[in-house]
Amino acid sequence: MLRVKRFLLPFLIVGVFVAGWILNGCVDYKNEDKIVEYTISAQLNQDYTINAKQQVLYTNNSQNFLNYVKFNLYPNAFKKDAKHSPINEVDKDNAFVNGPSYGEITISNLKVGETSLPVILEGQDDNVLSVPVALEPTEQVMISFDFFLVLPNIRFRYGYTDKSINLGQWYPMVAVLQNGHFVTEPYFSLGDPFLLEVANYDIKLTTPPDYVLASSTSFERKLIYQQNEAVLQFAMKGLRLREFAICLSNQFKVASKQVDGVNLLYYYYQDEDFQKSLETATLALLTFNELYGLYPYNQLSVVQTTLINGGMEYAGLVMIADNLDRSAHLEVIVHEIAHQWWYAVVGNDQINHAWLDEGLAEYSTTIFFEKHTQFGISRKDRVAKAITTVCVFADSNGYGFGGKTIILDKPLNQFANGSEYVALVYAMGQTMFDSLRTFVGEKVFFDALRVFYKDNMFDLVTPDYLIGAFEYSANRDLQTFFDGWLYGNNYLFVTN
Ligand SMILES: [Zn+2]
Repeated sequence: MLRVKRFLLPFLIVGVFVAGWILNGCVDYKNEDKIVEYTISAQLNQDYTINAKQQVLYTNNSQNFLNYVKFNLYPNAFKKDAKHSPINEVDKDNAFVNGPSYGEITISNLKVGETSLPVILEGQDDNVLSVPVALEPTEQVMISFDFFLVLPNIRFRYGYTDKSINLGQWYPMVAVLQNGHFVTEPYFSLGDPFLLEVANYDIKLTTPPDYVLASSTSFERKLIYQQNEAVLQFAMKGLRLREFAICLSNQFKVASKQVDGVNLLYYYYQDEDFQKSLETATLALLTFNELYGLYPYNQLSVVQTTLINGGMEYAGLVMIADNLDRSAHLEVIVHEIAHQWWYAVVGNDQINHAWLDEGLAEYSTTIFFEKHTQFGISRKDRVAKAITTVCVFADSNGYGFGGKTIILDKPLNQFANGSEYVALVYAMGQTMFDSLRTFVGEKVFFDALRVFYKDNMFDLVTPDYLIGAFEYSANRDLQTFFDGWLYGNNYLFVTN
């Protein structure tokens, strides 16, 4: 049996303490800033390539002169000899359904305003497009280019299989300007290696005529003729979305429901009890609306698709792996929907502070099952399971009394492997929130999350924002509590 013992230092009450909110702005971005406007016109070809034209209206929201704007080109991580492959060695067999397969993105016809410029790629995998500009603060520029995508044959967030096509992080994405630098971290095979700001989207996608499309927003669908061939044209507009994802399949069936004014859609191709899936998604939307504040978009697409495992969150769209057992399937639906509050609407740096959105999404899943007893999953059981996961990890990796310190708040590249990532970010993350709830009480805990959500909608936050929200609600210093959990300063595991 494993047992966990915690030693927490005495807390120092210092009254209302919200300095974290004021002092620790993480990006050169504020709610009143002009956000990026994307206009993309794309065509999906029969051979799983995409030809597209993209225009980006970019505003210099910083206080400084900008001489370039950078874009992350995530599809180049899927190239044959990529140094930062999205796929771990251990996942390769699961991911590549028909043997190794590669993808990439090529940029051409780059223009800034009316001026044509050479394409400059940076990064070890040509994963960054650097565009020269000359922008004073508040000035805007129109950047345009063509891009060509090759999709890999892979069960992953970007790629295709015989069941479906997943378009996550598929277009050149403007990098976040943080402390005067554009964040262009390479891809990483653990977690979700992204830092993204909300933007507005106007997207047209033409596809072969047999596809059903799921997207981050509602869309218009038209059958048109191109060179005597019938094609489908989808027109989509999305406001203040953290990113724009699309799934396509010629096998999708769709079930839908209006929930609190939101068009909730469930796309699936193998689900004998699709009503239960839709009902679970409905309950999740209702529950988190009530607990945290209203979901701000008019549509939410829950999409069963081919992924290696689990699910993947996008604004307005969540991908659910088609290889889950029934109870995991429902849990993943709830977890990914919780990400609409924690990641999509309130954004965070998923590269350096993955526990923030994952811990909150995982603990929101526990709260969901606690409130809906018909699923037969209790808070106590889920938290106990999480504690056991952390203990097993700690026990087998030399983190014990007098041993190494567990650091939860660290960048993705400092996690040794997938098991450490899961044990810490998900299991320890949710255990921390459960412990916090017990410590500060129900009212303070949920008031804090409501304030945190309302005050940071469509923004990017650092951990200090979250800590500040809890300190404000609890009317006390909680730094010691969080330091203990995030940096192991006073958190000891004892196993026997
Ligand atoms: Zn998650």
